[in-house]
Amino acid sequence: MNLVLHKPYKAAPDKDLVRVPGEYLRDSSRAILMRQDVLESFVSMCNAAKKEGVEFVVVSAHRTLSRQQELFLEGEKRHGKGRAILWLAPPGYSEHHTGLAFDLGDRSCPQYDDEPGFETTAAFSWLNQRAQEFQFELSFPKNNWQKISYEPWHWRYVGSSSAYELFHPSLIHRCSSLMRAVAMGLFKSFAILSLAIFFIQNPAYSESFEKVSFESADGYKIVGKWFAPRGSKTTLILLHGVGAVKEEWQSFAEFVHASGYGVLIYDMRGHGESVFKVSGETVEFPLFYGVGLDSDWGKMIQDLALAVDFLRANKKCDPKKIVVGGASIGANIAFRYAVQNKDVPYVILLSAGVNYRGIQTDDLLLGLGPRPMLLAVSPEDTFAYQSALYLVKLSAGKIPITLYVENLGAAHGVQMFKRMSAQAPSTLEIKILQWMQKVGK
Ligand SMILES: [Zn+2]
Repeated sequence: MNLVLHKPYKAAPDKDLVRVPGEYLRDSSRAILMRQDVLESFVSMCNAAKKEGVEFVVVSAHRTLSRQQELFLEGEKRHGKGRAILWLAPPGYSEHHTGLAFDLGDRSCPQYDDEPGFETTAAFSWLNQRAQEFQFELSFPKNNWQKISYEPWHWRYVGSSSAYELFHPSLIHRCSSLMRAVAMGLFKSFAILSLAIFFIQNPAYSESFEKVSFESADGYKIVGKWFAPRGSKTTLILLHGVGAVKEEWQSFAEFVHASGYGVLIYDMRGHGESVFKVSGETVEFPLFYGVGLDSDWGKMIQDLALAVDFLRANKKCDPKKIVVGGASIGANIAFRYAVQNKDVPYVILLSAGVNYRGIQTDDLLLGLGPRPMLLAVSPEDTFAYQSALYLVKLSAGKIPITLYVENLGAAHGVQMFKRMSAQAPSTLEIKILQWMQKVGK
């Protein structure tokens, strides 16, 4: 085993899930959820099996991202760091998120729940012969191409076209032989790549951004990357810190884009690709004169307003569905823009400070009103941490602030997104996505 390939899955929305009746559960007191069409097919299968003396129970079905996170951390304790991945998908990568997959047990063999011994039960031999008639298939058979451990108890529903396409996208057929070659051959010489997760991206998702640009009031060409939302979903504009570039947000942008959110990231004036003025002049941020609202730092707030105008005019975005956020000074700029613009539904601020380069947050805090604010900070990043505590105190409960204190040493801004592997989102990224899904309802 050299490499495991987990695919990303979106969590099924609550409204699509129904409770499995207690008579079909191992533990009838638990609330276990799956999709309605899956439950219907499962019940018919149970009836057919019962006539032949076989009784199934559901051990686990739909799981939220946070439940998967708990299981994954438990798994790391049990199997050792970096080894849980062989049995358990990290949050965001489990078929259980979809409400289409479940773990089955044999009513008379509880000792084999979620155990390889399930293979020896009457339930498993029945499933092997007849599950297909009810549109169920084994997700991880022996020697599966994803290199995930054999799980005889884990079955998924492929009876609707959306379910079938989710588990069998055409790209996988095209890529599977390549991926198999990668999984078995190229990495043979490696020891276990502890958390190497490769996932198949659907074509709309890889290379999913478009290069865009707009002009600031004083002639900077501001360059960005635009990830279009799915349907009428919310769009985020995310700003970087001093001396950084838009790409510091790229993996987070890809992560939330996979859940349908639109994202615009751009190099702020004097940074990255946004150092050229139409006059032909080049200005990099170390040359900015002064600090405060009248300086180039303050003009970044107007640049953000122009970015919103750009999305409204060119990408048909509803301004009431444009969220702003940022890291470090980017957080302060996003915050001040939101205070001035009541359309902004909520803000996401990493390591905001009471004052960066003369751009304050405390003076206008209460201007945000009842709009939710997410504030994330790490304790040893002292100035940002003290700022966060001060802002929470100052709000005196008038602003709905969610404060995430991440124990990540002195990590500042997007450094708090440090990932264990490139494709597995960090805990904070998952928390932010879940928070958006909650406040965005
Ligand atoms: Zn499972």
